[in-house]
Amino acid sequence: MIKTTCAYCGVGCGVTATPRGDGGFDIAGDAAHPANQGRLCVKGSALGETIGLEGRLLYPMMRERGGDGSLQRVAWGEALDHVADKWRAIIDEHGPDAVAFYVSGQLLTEDYYVANKLVKGYIGSANIDTNSRLCMSSAVAGHKRAFGEDVVPVNYEDIDHADMVVLVGSNLAWCHPILFQRLTRAKEARPGMKIVVIDPRRTATCELADLHLPIKPGTDVWLFNGLLAYLSRIGAVDAAFVAAHTNGLEDALAAATLTPEEVARACRLNLQDLMEFYESFAATAKVITGFSMGVNQSSAGTDKVNSIINCHLIGGRIGKQGMGPFSITGQPNAMGGREVGGLANMLAAHLDLDNAAHRDAVQTFWESPRIASRPGLKAVDLFEAIEAGKVKAVWVIATNPVVSLPNADQVRRALERCELVVVSDVVRDTDTNAYADVLLPALAWGEKDGTVTNSERRISRQRPFLPAPGEARADWLILSQFALRMGYDGFGYSSAAEIFTEHARLSAFRNGPAELPRAFDIGALATLGESAYDALLPTQWPAPASAAGVAAHGAGHPFADGRFSHADGRARFVATVPRSPANLPDVEYPITLNTGRVRDHWHTMTRTGRAPKLADHVPESFIDMHPQDALLCGVKEGELARVTSQWGSVIARVQHGGGIARGSAFVPIHWNNQTASDARVGAVVNPVVDPVSGEPEFKHTPVIVDRF
Ligand code: SF4
Repeated sequence: MIKTTCAYCGVGCGVTATPRGDGGFDIAGDAAHPANQGRLCVKGSALGETIGLEGRLLYPMMRERGGDGSLQRVAWGEALDHVADKWRAIIDEHGPDAVAFYVSGQLLTEDYYVANKLVKGYIGSANIDTNSRLCMSSAVAGHKRAFGEDVVPVNYEDIDHADMVVLVGSNLAWCHPILFQRLTRAKEARPGMKIVVIDPRRTATCELADLHLPIKPGTDVWLFNGLLAYLSRIGAVDAAFVAAHTNGLEDALAAATLTPEEVARACRLNLQDLMEFYESFAATAKVITGFSMGVNQSSAGTDKVNSIINCHLIGGRIGKQGMGPFSITGQPNAMGGREVGGLANMLAAHLDLDNAAHRDAVQTFWESPRIASRPGLKAVDLFEAIEAGKVKAVWVIATNPVVSLPNADQVRRALERCELVVVSDVVRDTDTNAYADVLLPALAWGEKDGTVTNSERRISRQRPFLPAPGEARADWLILSQFALRMGYDGFGYSSAAEIFTEHARLSAFRNGPAELPRAFDIGALATLGESAYDALLPTQWPAPASAAGVAAHGAGHPFADGRFSHADGRARFVATVPRSPANLPDVEYPITLNTGRVRDHWHTMTRTGRAPKLADHVPESFIDMHPQDALLCGVKEGELARVTSQWGSVIARVQHGGGIARGSAFVPIHWNNQTASDARVGAVVNPVVDPVSGEPEFKHTPVIVDRF
């Protein structure tokens, strides 16, 4: 029996894989893993159905030059030589910012670490961004503004101790089912626990709620500014905590002047319900505010995050058991990617690209010839720069941007015009791979070896239990072999363990109150040998060297001593001025489109689409809309409709789920042109981004719906 970690969401459940004897594996929850204690949701349970080789990319392939342009099998050496030659020629002629990488929260930390070291320390550009830009970057930016570091200060165990849980823009029941089950059990054990769901849609999560606030889309900052003002007005303030550990409350309050009546009008909420929320929050010490894509995926996402954190700081509801602002991560390793600096505006080990002392620390540690000195292009900007011819070569790893990015037709145009498109992937045919000049086969879940970090900062091992198929290789190995061809030293890695311990050493390098203070410290894991790495138990950070030997246990709460990661040790209130979504509905496009997940699929379905059990829940894409809006648009339930925005269109079947307000509609993100034609909702989504985080506004695109 092999212990590993689920391939899907940021809950990070432990999984066991037991060989059956017929070549298959029985998949079960790992009873010893603290994240799930033996439970798995339907996606995790079906992992065994997704591990066959049908449709796998097994060999390197290149488009035939001078022939019919089809992809032909080539040797690894030929493919990597070709990529390195082209990469070097483009850098020599146009500089390091003319090449870019677009990677993924599906990568293991070790893969991510090597990619970032290669780009930022050796190529000397920061043009490496990740699909985590699409889900978590507003949380990252909000944490950095408030705490001085991207830290989630809540543990799953806190759910068992909270007296109130507020879920904002999170359909926990479908998107993080094992956490939802934990919350359900906590509520059953202590029925007095109050659960508030803030979401424009009446989702499955609302079934557990004592109070559902069906907020007008995009008005979260009004709501939380109103709460901050209310807490201040009634004196629900931890004055000692605010005085000793924070700055900026006055400015935050100056931006939060609305009365509850004004907030209720702005957010289109019942005043009585609003006051019930405000009064309960004020009266409860142990409050967790969990937030997810409904907060992050917005042109005001970073302000939304900070408006929530402000309400925790004012009452000192942070760094203690049963309380805190809780960013619930989307992908299995979004957090690990952040630890190694996987975003175009970050450095490894939670250090900052725009800070000279931080750059010096990372370059010194890496002994690299150079270090990027300014942020690279964030996802949406990156593909615009490719279309404009400024970026001439891109390497896409473990993600499918032709489906998942906003304004996805623009991404397609960009890849068509790009001089060199390299894609590393586990499947052969995706909407993105159709534009690849070079396809490189990577190891998949069950084959690869490394670590992931979940939403509560817990590092867990993904262990292989299947042989590498065909000529597939680990992503870190592909990147290292490319780096050596580019003439870069520092990439002679022979195992994932070697990379992980280097990453752990960097986390502790110059880390301390007198130098570059940060909570992300896994120095306790810096000396693991191969066998200790292989046996590594799920380990939560902070795990500094002084914690060696106890690192497998819970790490307590970051900021428990009231010391934050800003140089002065104090947290920041951030003044958040409410602003509407960038594009509002009008006569031409009267309906606001929201996008998100369904329960049984993951991302662009390259894995979950293979499991018959998962396909049954929602067999095809749909548009959920209010019956009266459907009548006005001339479409009927069960019919196909075309959903069109300024940017593109998608076809989906009309349904009335019952949870959609008038003027809004919902289409899931998963379907793509491999499953049906015109099925990519990304083609419809507006490419507007948050000015701080660069995260796109997936939840608010004006559209028109017509009969197809
Ligand atoms: Fe996997 Fe997330 Fe389900 Fe856990 S909750 S089994 S991590 S998909």
